[in-house]
Amino acid sequence: MVNAQLHGPLSAQVETLHERKLTCMDNLLSATDAVVYFKDERSRFLYVSAGWIANVAPGLTAEQVVGKTDFDFFRKEFAAATFEDEQRIMRSGEPVIAKLEQDDRTGEWYSSTKMPLRDGGGQVVGTFGIARNVTGLVEAEKALAYRALHDPVTGLANRTAFMDRLSQALLALERHPSGLAVLFVDLDHFKEINDSFGHDAGDQVLGEVGRRLLLLARSVDTVARLGGDEFVVLCTGLGDDDDVGLIADRIVRGLRIPYGDRGRDLVVTASVGVVVTDDPLAEPEKLVREADAAMYEAKKAGRDCYRADDSAPPNAPGTRNLRSELRAALAGSELFLVYQPLFALGQRSLLGVEALVRWNHPRRGVLLPNDFISFAEQHGSIADIGSFVLDEACRQLAAWRSRPSWPEAFTMAVNISARELSAPGLAERVAEVVRRHGINPARLCLEIPETALIVDVARVQQTLSALSNLGVRIALNDFGTGYSLVRLRRLNVDILKIDSSFVSQVNENPRDREIVAAVTAMSHALGITVVGGGIETTDQLDTLTALDCDSGQGFLFARPMSAEAVLALVGE
Ligand code: C2E
Ligand code: MG
Repeated sequence: MVNAQLHGPLSAQVETLHERKLTCMDNLLSATDAVVYFKDERSRFLYVSAGWIANVAPGLTAEQVVGKTDFDFFRKEFAAATFEDEQRIMRSGEPVIAKLEQDDRTGEWYSSTKMPLRDGGGQVVGTFGIARNVTGLVEAEKALAYRALHDPVTGLANRTAFMDRLSQALLALERHPSGLAVLFVDLDHFKEINDSFGHDAGDQVLGEVGRRLLLLARSVDTVARLGGDEFVVLCTGLGDDDDVGLIADRIVRGLRIPYGDRGRDLVVTASVGVVVTDDPLAEPEKLVREADAAMYEAKKAGRDCYRADDSAPPNAPGTRNLRSELRAALAGSELFLVYQPLFALGQRSLLGVEALVRWNHPRRGVLLPNDFISFAEQHGSIADIGSFVLDEACRQLAAWRSRPSWPEAFTMAVNISARELSAPGLAERVAEVVRRHGINPARLCLEIPETALIVDVARVQQTLSALSNLGVRIALNDFGTGYSLVRLRRLNVDILKIDSSFVSQVNENPRDREIVAAVTAMSHALGITVVGGGIETTDQLDTLTALDCDSGQGFLFARPMSAEAVLALVGE
């Protein structure tokens, strides 16, 4: 530690210092803007530098300051705190290093170091200090800290801040049992606003959405923007009587009110997913994922609404059970595939099969996909199920193909969930599996659900284009709502499967018949093949054939069957 040493009695020292007008030190200190002072044992100034004058008392001379104390220049509290420090240094001889102090008259920040001033005998006879104006640094640090926890567009908390608050709120559930809810808010078609009105307008809408969310949520709730057009609201302290549905509904209705100036009103709606828990051990990331999955259900339900996470299907055991049972099913060999044949309608010839997953549940018997696929989508195990299905279907196709008289053109269709399609790496995974099993990619068809085209179109488009480049065919699984056909072509969709709900009504409902006729004609014009799904009667088959539908699937031809039964059907 550096201590200033003055030699001889202090009064003589001071005299000497003054006599020499501190020339040397003063010249040195004037060359910098350092705030330097020396004080006697009662905290009276013996010397102040030019930097001290400039920062503390501009217009005065050093001589005018000597003999005065901080109480003559600063507010009482600040001067008292400094006096305290200096008296402590006097008693202990211990310095105060780099203390951050704010001059409350000017708001400027200083990093201040205060040292004991010793005489030749080592006796503490006063103090001296040096302070640096660090206002710029402090402001920059504050700005950085703000930026680290806030979203720059809306000023709301950002993901980091939100996850931190969610973790804290979960911890608090241990001490004060109650409920908390995460509401995942995603704007509908926000990309179109950016595309049509520009990013500035988009940012304005995001800012307004943030302001509205703050008003629509309760004052204790945390509102954050996760990024893009995704917002989250954390509601804490929920009692049994609190209905989160009401908050979600208020948000949906409140965001729907038009934005912008009169004359160019813009309507933006939002889909909201809700998850509620009272479990302090719940994982924050998982909760947000579940709320996201529930939001996705709201999108599927037509957007502009909210959905709660009620992932357990009817009659299913509790969520926890199903989750661990599914894990066990994946680890063991409880999942298996059945195959439903696809026929050309004209010649009634077998074109290929569609792989459909089944779960041989140890207690409940064979479960159908509707009992567990959407659950798996929401609880993170869909990727594992998808990997199993793709691998097993390709393995089976390769095994069939190795038989001498197997029909070359026989195709295998595999269902891909919307989640899998929007997760990264699907095209790479497919390429790897196709290569490993040595199958012709043109014989593999991936069936994607229509809902997959609603969310994250850009990413889906990229994946579909990569898959198409591999040579894999893409079928739209449950075509029904009339998604623009031209757009489908641009998305590399080769096949359109007309939903069985249309097929079942094709003879009863003239509108359904017209739709099937129009869709088939337009699809053909665009080079898209049309498949009728769920054909159960010969009347339906006849109508679809008359409407020029290319191929069909349904109980009339064949139910889903084992791999051995497919062999028998092919005539092997
Ligand atoms: P999908 O892709 O539309 O598959 C056709 C579904 O309709 C199958 O039900 C099939 O058994 C049933 N079906 C076929 N013909 C008829 C018929 O004439 N009448 C009736 N009433 N039903 C018929 P399944 O196997 O229960 O599959 C339901 C859905 O689950 C599938 O619909 C598909 O979206 C999904 N799925 C099936 N396997 C998988 C899979 O491996 N992965 C993923 N992600 N989803 C799958
Ligand atoms: Mg399908």
